[in-house]
Amino acid sequence: MKITLNPLAKDSATRAALVAEGGFGKYYTDHMVVCEWSQESGWGEPELKPYGPISLDPATAVFHYGQEIFEGMKAYRQPDGGVALFRPEANAQRFAKSAKRLALPEMPEALFLETVETLVKEDAGWVPDKVGESLYIRPFMIATEVGLGVRPSNKATYLLIATPAGAYFDPSKAVSVWISTEYVRAAQGGTGEAKCGGNYAASLVAQKAAAEQGCDQVVWIDAKERKWIEEMGGMNLYFIKGSGTSASVITPRLTGTLLPGITRDSILSVAKDLGYKVEEVMLSVDDWRDGVSSGEITEIFACGTAAVVSPVGQAKSAMGTWITGDGNPGVITMEIRNALLAIQHGQSADTHGWMRKVL
Ligand SMILES: *Cc1c(COP(=O)(O)O)cnc(C)c1O
Repeated sequence: MKITLNPLAKDSATRAALVAEGGFGKYYTDHMVVCEWSQESGWGEPELKPYGPISLDPATAVFHYGQEIFEGMKAYRQPDGGVALFRPEANAQRFAKSAKRLALPEMPEALFLETVETLVKEDAGWVPDKVGESLYIRPFMIATEVGLGVRPSNKATYLLIATPAGAYFDPSKAVSVWISTEYVRAAQGGTGEAKCGGNYAASLVAQKAAAEQGCDQVVWIDAKERKWIEEMGGMNLYFIKGSGTSASVITPRLTGTLLPGITRDSILSVAKDLGYKVEEVMLSVDDWRDGVSSGEITEIFACGTAAVVSPVGQAKSAMGTWITGDGNPGVITMEIRNALLAIQHGQSADTHGWMRKVL
């Protein structure tokens, strides 16, 4: 891998001040990785270089037809001062699947991992120290053939950037959701399983509708029957039935339209490790409403790399409004969140082999 260091890299005091500000996506690390692909010569040598703007012809394919994919993953500070990635192989594999669906080149897992590890090692000073904080890593790929012809691009550019992520979890606040019956996120045969920018572009109007209803987030239901719960915004959902050791931890089944979250998958294991019964099922809007009103559903949370776990409180829809629990994060929600964070921060045993030490 070609290495071109940033002569203007921030000194450690400046960097520490920026990292201490917390937040998300405000500052980017000193470096980025770029790797070019073409139909004729395949993947070129990746380059680590100073973070900065890129220049593209206005007729570049991605601007017109949205041929783009991305990933989201994190590096966590470890108790020995080192840094480890959480399940980066899973991100590499999903990135390749998304590429295939968007007719972009599949990046070999080893190449993907090499770029991530090189950037994290070089910019390790940007990884925050506290539990709940991390370095958020954003790999993405754009179609870079120049021309307005509609066809799979014969050129692509892979880029990798990283931003420190503060602990924006507020334990006193559960998010409110608007269950959208007007807009859908994904249909069978569409791009719901792929992590592509287009899915997000199409979701923004629904997010706006949720905000107009006074809600924090939108909940998606299935496109066909318009009754099955799929996801919340860019996160997967979990429902808890019952309480104590007899509780069940339930998540909507992956039907082909849901994004297969790595946090979702990890929580299936963590909840089982904690002794709960776990289930992947089809859950309808009626099941949600009735479960909450009968008290059978005791807790709800959303999960994803960025926020890890986010408790869900009030749900509003064209069919009415209902509230889960007392509006505060549930006991099992917090137990699962803390167990996952403890693994990510190296504070409890990594029994599933999820952590990949880079430093
Ligand atoms: C990225 C994403 C998720 C969460 O996936 P993680 O791998 O857990 O971060 C869930 N839903 C959508 C739509 C997403 O784009």
